[in-house]
Amino acid sequence: MNPDLEKLINLHRAESELKRLDSELAEVPRLRGELDERVAVDRGRLETARKDLETSQKSRRQHEAEVQDLETKRSKYKGQLMEVKTNKEYTAMLHEIETVEREIRSREDRILEEMEKAETLTQEVAREEEAFRSVEKVAKGEAAELDARKARLEKEHEQVAAERDRVAATIPEEELRLYQRVAKLRGSGMAEARDGMCQTCHVKLRPQMWVEIRQNETLFQCAACNRILYYEPPPPTVVIDP
Ligand SMILES: [Zn+2]
Repeated sequence: MNPDLEKLINLHRAESELKRLDSELAEVPRLRGELDERVAVDRGRLETARKDLETSQKSRRQHEAEVQDLETKRSKYKGQLMEVKTNKEYTAMLHEIETVEREIRSREDRILEEMEKAETLTQEVAREEEAFRSVEKVAKGEAAELDARKARLEKEHEQVAAERDRVAATIPEEELRLYQRVAKLRGSGMAEARDGMCQTCHVKLRPQMWVEIRQNETLFQCAACNRILYYEPPPPTVVIDP
C-alpha cells in the first residue's frame, strides 16, 4: 500500500474516532441534566407533602387557640350570668353562652378533622422521604458513573488527538492539505470504496478507477464528493480442514 495513503487512512480513522468521542462527551451534560431533573421532581413531591402537613398543623393550632379564646369568653359570660338583674338579661346571657359553646364544638370538630388529616399526611411524608432517599441514592450512583465516563472519554480523546497529530506530522504537505480541504468542506476527508462505489456518497466509480483503487497505490478522489478513496480488502477466509 502507498505509505501516504496508509497514513491518511490512519489520520481519517483518528479524526472519525475524535468525532465519536466528541458526540459521546456532549451526551454527558445532557444526561446529567436529565438526572438532576428526575431528582428535582421527587424532591418537589416530598416538599409538597411536608408543606401540606405543616399547613394542616398550623390550621389545627389556630383552631386550638380560638377554642381557648372562646372558653375564656364562656367563663366570663358564666360569671356575668350570676350578676344579671332581670330575666330578660339572664335569657340573653344564656343565649350568648349557647352561641359560644356552639362555636367551640364546631372548632373542636375541625381540630379532629385536622388531626386525622395530619395522620395521613405524616404517613405520606414518610413515604415520600423514603422514595426520595432511594431516588437520591440511585442518582448519586449514576452521577458518579457519568463523571467516570466523562473522565474516561476525555482521556481517550487526549490520546487519540495526540495520535492524530503524530500521524498528521508524517504526511507530506500536499496530501495533508488535500485531505484537510475536503474534510473541512465535507465533514470527512476520506471514503471507503467498496462494491465499485464510494461508500459515503454512494456514487458509482468508473470501472478502471475501481480496479486501480483496489491496489491502494495511488490517491484517487471520488468524482462526486471529492473524498480521497481507499480500499479495504475483505478479511481472508479461514479454511478449516475437515
Ligand atoms: Zn463520494
